[in-house]
Amino acid sequence: MENESYLHELMKCVRCGSCKAYCPTYEEEITESMGARGRLVLLYELSMGHIKPSYRLIDRIFSCILCGACSGTCPLGIDIKEVIYHGRTLLKKPDVSRRLLRLIVKLYVQSPDLCFRLFKASQFLLPKRLNEKILPFPLELPESPFKSNRHVFKTSNNKKRGRIAVFTGCVINFLYPHLAESLTNVLQQLHYDVIFPAGEVCCGVPLRSLGLEDEAKRLAKRNLNIFKSLNVKAILSLCPTCTLALKVEYPKLIGEGIENIMDISSFFIDKLGYFHPLDNTLRFKEAVYHDPCHLSYGLGVTIEPREILKNIGLNLKEAEREGCCGFGGIFSLTFQELSGALLNKRTNDLKKTDAKTIITSCPGCFLQLSRNTENIPVLHLIEVIKEAI
Ligand code: SF4
Ligand code: SF4
Repeated sequence: MENESYLHELMKCVRCGSCKAYCPTYEEEITESMGARGRLVLLYELSMGHIKPSYRLIDRIFSCILCGACSGTCPLGIDIKEVIYHGRTLLKKPDVSRRLLRLIVKLYVQSPDLCFRLFKASQFLLPKRLNEKILPFPLELPESPFKSNRHVFKTSNNKKRGRIAVFTGCVINFLYPHLAESLTNVLQQLHYDVIFPAGEVCCGVPLRSLGLEDEAKRLAKRNLNIFKSLNVKAILSLCPTCTLALKVEYPKLIGEGIENIMDISSFFIDKLGYFHPLDNTLRFKEAVYHDPCHLSYGLGVTIEPREILKNIGLNLKEAEREGCCGFGGIFSLTFQELSGALLNKRTNDLKKTDAKTIITSCPGCFLQLSRNTENIPVLHLIEVIKEAI
């Protein structure tokens, strides 16, 4: 966003407060400055020179989890999330508390493999207390087969339906590569060849969340060059944050996005016939589905995963209300208390349904929810689909 349109957006706000009603951080803290409207007012006052950047102000702007729940609610069409992204670029200089984090994230996007290896080593070498400070939850880092090389997995039969590319994303690549394997397996069973193109880089969202817009633009351009030139039926991603970034946020960031990228439920919805369990062998019969914010608010996809799950034969329960799991990537590290409070609220709502399994479509929600659900298994949608076919 250019400075001019940023100011224009800020001036459009009539302070009606519609956006505040859906803001999870406001709902938790009940403080005006922890809500969408309050943040916009702060950024407006800052841009007019009425207030100066302070620790508290910076805290308020960076405590937005970037869920996007507010953006569709503004009667004037203000793109609140984009405004907050831009506000963060203006605040990154005075924000000394996240300087080291910015440096680490910049290093990570340059050499993700090396950083993960160093992090893995630090888990053994550093004292437990320090490890817990870096990351508040234990994390296994498996060896991913989807590293920098190009991978092509061909379907073995002659009923080929075309080629599908996968945008893997960092969380899947480094934490849950088995989910990418499941996706490959399902696509092959549906007679598609599957490509993991070489050279994919981070979608750029962690950089943008820290106000590093120029660095994010460089990554966006690299991904765009790789994925737009592919001759494929579709590009699939198991991570709604990546999908939203490449499809919706890149056009605002670099003027062009990747149109044919989609989440798996949007792709599989017209292939429902394949998902009837052969002899009702699913390990569970009922589940509750958790909507990832970037899939529901960002991409408007809520019906498709439910349709797929019902078609598979699951008795699908619904939580009484919507809710963010409190992950938000870097947010879960820098606002641990708030992230934990949102997680508790969400898991309580999900547990109240008495469902024996929780299903979601986002690896971030999967990671976060798994921390607080004790004996209730959390599954990514692709695992359920794989089991069903
Ligand atoms: S993006 Fe989410 S947390 Fe941020 S202001 Fe909007 S509703 Fe609140
Ligand atoms: S809904 Fe729009 S106009 Fe109303 S307070 Fe929020 S940003 Fe301002």
